[in-house]
Amino acid sequence: MFFFFVGGLEQQAKQVLKSGVGRCISCGSPADLVEYEKVLKAFFVPVWRWPGKEPLMHCKDCNLFFPQSIAPPPRLPEKESVEAALRCHFCSRQVDASFRFCPFCGSGL
Ligand SMILES: [Zn+2]
Ligand SMILES: [Zn+2]
Repeated sequence: MFFFFVGGLEQQAKQVLKSGVGRCISCGSPADLVEYEKVLKAFFVPVWRWPGKEPLMHCKDCNLFFPQSIAPPPRLPEKESVEAALRCHFCSRQVDASFRFCPFCGSGL
């Protein structure tokens, strides 16, 4: 049987799950975690579509899909690291932030 096939398999972003969770491996712009579906097109008309198995990263700029595991993490805005635990000014040991006095040296926090 001769089967002349014009078309192809395309991946399309179906739904954005999380936006800006990674960076594009190609252009470095923010990439979204998306649910995608595969669309089989024949003569440029979608004839069949089925959902992708795993969410993928999708770059809107270069329309690239790639697995989340190889996506570099997004550049996080520099935040002052807020330490959960307080340190005593005198003995510099870690003290629970709810304590009013250092349990090690007794100085006020
Ligand atoms: Zn890109
Ligand atoms: Zn102390």
